[in-house]
Amino acid sequence: MTASDAVLDSRTWLVLAAPFVGSFLGVVADRWPRGEPFLGGRSHCPHCRHTLGALDLAPLVSWVALRQRCRYCSRPISAWYPSVEVAALLIAIWAALVIPAALAWVTVLFGWALLTLALIDLKVFWLPSALTVPLGIAGFAAMAFHLEEGPHDQLIGAVVGYAAMRGVAWLYRRFRGREGLGGGDATLLAALGAWVGWLGLPTILLYAGIGGLIVLMASSFGGRPVTLTRRLAFGPYLCLGGWLVWLYGPLQFDW
Ligand SMILES: [Zn+2]
Repeated sequence: MTASDAVLDSRTWLVLAAPFVGSFLGVVADRWPRGEPFLGGRSHCPHCRHTLGALDLAPLVSWVALRQRCRYCSRPISAWYPSVEVAALLIAIWAALVIPAALAWVTVLFGWALLTLALIDLKVFWLPSALTVPLGIAGFAAMAFHLEEGPHDQLIGAVVGYAAMRGVAWLYRRFRGREGLGGGDATLLAALGAWVGWLGLPTILLYAGIGGLIVLMASSFGGRPVTLTRRLAFGPYLCLGGWLVWLYGPLQFDW
């Protein structure tokens, strides 16, 4: 690919737009759980309430150039926004490297939606159906458009994903006497099934389980004891599993 091809490639634009989208996703994930509108409203420094201008809000650049401090009161700026901007950028680069141009846009939108869901679930243990349901419909529509044979596997994936997660939640409640998984996890797995098809579901659950275990073990080494009652947001691990299966397909087992 020559330099001029790269300029014309839609994937280049996705990568360039990513930090700005990340900025917006940071606002959404921060304000939505608090019931604040995420469109409109000027940004303020949380310490001195000074209204921030374009110079203060350029993705990544401002945070680095201002040495992580507010220009007006010199108090530290949270790493939240730059972290989300970097994550959105990495998602776009990852997709651009792995996915052909025809599916790059839907892949990056899928990844950004998963990032937003993971952040909200980490923050407040909530997977808003106002995002998971449209995500599932979008996956179904994208695959209906893309697959010649029709999105049958995706339809089954959505139904089986929802039912499987509901089943696990029911078993958990029955044997442990309390809620373990939220209804949001079932809707999320249904949405992921609508993207990857039912064949991808076992791999998603495997990756999600491994991811959750690694984080639990890491945090117990870090001094936080693992107890059976400790609450763990499962959504971020499902999101990660869904992302990996979408990019690389389900694991193949040769029996
Ligand atoms: Zn300030």
